[in-house]
Amino acid sequence: MEFIVEPERKVKICDEADVCVVGGSCTGVFAAVRAARLGAKVALIEKQNCLGGTATNGLINIWHSLYDTDGKNQIIAGLTLETLERLKKAGAVWRGESVTGAYHFNSQELKIELDNYIRENKIRLYLHTYYAGLLHDGNKIKAVIIENKDGRSAVKAGFFVDATGDGDLCRDLNIESYQNKTVQPPSSCFLMKGDIDSDLLSQIIRKHGHEEGLEDDWGWSDRSVCGDDITLRADNHVFNVICNKARDLTFAEMEGRRQMRAFINLLKKYGHPDMDYSLVAACSHIGIRETAHYKTLFKATEKDLLMGKRYPTAVLNGTYRVDIHHSDNMGITFKYLDGTVSTFYGKNTKTEFGNWRTREGITGEPAKYYQLPLEVLIQDRYENFIMAGRMLNADEGAFGALRVMVNLNQLGEAAGVAAFETLNSGKPVWEIDRIKVRRTLKDGGSALI
Ligand SMILES: Cc1cc2nc3c(=O)[nH]c(=O)nc-3n(C[C@H](O)[C@H](O)[C@H](O)COP(=O)(O)OP(=O)(O)OC[C@H]3O[C@@H](n4cnc5c(N)ncnc54)[C@H](O)[C@@H]3O)c2cc1C
Repeated sequence: MEFIVEPERKVKICDEADVCVVGGSCTGVFAAVRAARLGAKVALIEKQNCLGGTATNGLINIWHSLYDTDGKNQIIAGLTLETLERLKKAGAVWRGESVTGAYHFNSQELKIELDNYIRENKIRLYLHTYYAGLLHDGNKIKAVIIENKDGRSAVKAGFFVDATGDGDLCRDLNIESYQNKTVQPPSSCFLMKGDIDSDLLSQIIRKHGHEEGLEDDWGWSDRSVCGDDITLRADNHVFNVICNKARDLTFAEMEGRRQMRAFINLLKKYGHPDMDYSLVAACSHIGIRETAHYKTLFKATEKDLLMGKRYPTAVLNGTYRVDIHHSDNMGITFKYLDGTVSTFYGKNTKTEFGNWRTREGITGEPAKYYQLPLEVLIQDRYENFIMAGRMLNADEGAFGALRVMVNLNQLGEAAGVAAFETLNSGKPVWEIDRIKVRRTLKDGGSALI
């Protein structure tokens, strides 16, 4: 590999904050809001033109159940519940009919609600601003370097939160990373005019998919979000790419869009003849499920998660199933707390069922929800740094469950409170009172028992 040397240059300091959060999905926004509500001066850096990450730029519109598997006890509240209530007031959220008790919302309205949080909590937001590097002095981070229309500048802060999904700050800090054996593939969601029933779609793809270069790939769609004549399609994948690599990401964006047109072309030819199929909106950023994971004090494992292991420093409660999009054979596997395992291939092509509890000889009552301790966010090299998001330290199965937004939202909130507690205590992040963080989260509305 060849290198060129950049000349040394002075970079102006554009902001000084107590807490600087990089990445503005709900994970990052909720970290920022929690820290700000405790009294911290917060800066938030986001490279896109809006907040919300995969939910808004990737058109993902479902938050899963806030209740345990009985549907009786509420186990998730905090900013997730507050946001759902605020969106409800705007007529932008409704409870789905599905047994999962999920909430479907208008993800474009979420952009506006997240802007409201920024204004109300006086967070200094930088949109269209790319995190480009950081400066640290030994084990203390001093500033992040950003690039935007003003050129290159620096944000100084007392504490930094990496909420970039891919862990861009973790990468630059050389925190030990790994990739799971299989990496869940990305998908490019889109809004389509016209509807297609799943049986006919399955036949069309199997018989004619090759004409447009489409494979018989598993996926889902949602009709309820934008009215009856607009469907959200989430049924493509781009395989064999790792989206924290620039060239893979570029290829994936283009291939995802190619698949959108191919899908619509097929429906125009073989779908319902009276339907007028067309592309209404393409996601503004491909939906990335998984890239790198970074090592922290605690690694989440599928076994502990599905057995519902409890932790004194728990900052997350959840029920969402293990959900693994296969990286190689166009299938998906779900594993539930009650033992059920189901795998689906293609568009209704093949299904398999099993039970992991029976297979492992586990008896007794299944757990009604799982937990995750604060230690999953904490590394022990940089005293004023924490990470939250899909870069989390988890094996394939645990990641499959934890990666959904009702879970990552809670980790964002925990990161914001831990940031404040670190600054307040003057201790390195790994020495803070973790029980106090949990108590503060609870006092701020989290449903932690
Ligand atoms: C197709 C698809 C469907 C899904 N369906 C669901 C679902 O129905 N329900 C559900 O709950 N979950 C779903 N998920 C999972 C969930 O959406 C994601 O795991 C979650 O949103 C990831 O959140 P995050 O904060 O870790 O990362 P992201 O959402 O990727 O957010 C990272 C943020 O950081 C910003 N950023 C990154 N790098 C930089 C940088 N260098 N400088 C500045 N800003 C930066 C990004 O622009 C982004 O806003 C789905 C995922 C995909 C891909």
